[in-house]
Amino acid sequence: MTAPFFRVADLTHRFGGLVAIDGLSFTVERGTIFSVIGPNGSGKTTLFNCICSIYKPTSGSIWLGDERISGKKPHQIARLGIARTFQNIELFANVSTVENLMLGRHLHMTSGLWQGAAMCYRRSKAAQEECTHREHVERIIDLLELQAVRDKLVRELPFGTQRTVELGRALALEPTLLLLDEPAAGMSLDERQDLMFWIKDIQTELGVTILLIEHQMQMVMDISDRVLAINFGKPIIEGTPKEVADHPEVIEAYMGGASVGTATQAQ
Ligand code: ADP
Ligand code: MG
Repeated sequence: MTAPFFRVADLTHRFGGLVAIDGLSFTVERGTIFSVIGPNGSGKTTLFNCICSIYKPTSGSIWLGDERISGKKPHQIARLGIARTFQNIELFANVSTVENLMLGRHLHMTSGLWQGAAMCYRRSKAAQEECTHREHVERIIDLLELQAVRDKLVRELPFGTQRTVELGRALALEPTLLLLDEPAAGMSLDERQDLMFWIKDIQTELGVTILLIEHQMQMVMDISDRVLAINFGKPIIEGTPKEVADHPEVIEAYMGGASVGTATQAQ
C-alpha cells in the first residue's frame, strides 16, 4: 500500500506543563485542501511549527510520503517542498514585492540573489538562472494579480495586499505542500473573496496540497475537501465540511453555540 501524501502520527507537543498538541493524528491526500479549525489556543499554530521543525515535537512523528520529516532541520523541510505563511506576516518590509518573491526562491538558487541580479544582462550561468527565477516570480505575480504593486516597497502596501505578497513568497518556493496560517485575518470581504479563488487556483492549477488554518468559517466550508476540528490539541471530529459543521461539539466548543454555516468570524 502506498503511503498517504502527508501524515501526522500521534503527535504531542508540550510547553512545560501545558499540553498544546495532545496525541493528534491525521492524513492529508495529495492535491486536497485540508483545514484545521479550533478556538484560539487550541494548538493550530503549534502544529504548523512542529511540521516546519521550528518546534521539536515532544513525541509522535510527521511524514511526507515515506519520508519521516520530524527531526529534520527547518531548511531541510523547506527543501522537501513544504512552505508556509505566518499568522503574523513575515516579509522584508523595506524591499519591493518582486524582490520579496525572489527571496522566496533562494532555495532554488545556486548563485546569490544579488550576484544574479547584477549579472542579469550578461550571458553567464548566473544571468540565465536569474532570468528563470524572474520568469517564475512573474507567473506568481500574474496569478495573484500583484502587477500594480510589483515594484512597491512592502511596508507601503495595505495589510491585505501584504498577506497576498506573503502567499506569493511561499509559492515562490514551488511547494508541494503549502501551510497557510490564518491567511484571511485582517482582510476585507473583497480581499477574502479573491484569496479564496487564489487558494483554489493554487490547488487546481499548480496542483499544490494545502493545509489551512482559518477562522473565517465560510471560507473553510466553501473550499475545504476535509476539515479537522481540534480543541485543547485533541481532535473533536474530522470529516467533510458539512459533517464537521453539523457536529454538536464543534457548534458548542468552537462556535459558542452559533450555527457554523452563518457565522463569519469565530474566536
Ligand atoms: P492556536 O494557533 O490554535 O491559537 P497555539 O498553537 O498558538 O494556538 O497555542 C496553543 C497553546 O500553546 C496555547 O495555550 C498557547 O498559550 C501555548 N503556546 C503557544 N506557543 C507557546 C510558547 N512558545 N511557549 C509557551 N506556550 C505556548
Ligand atoms: Mg494560531
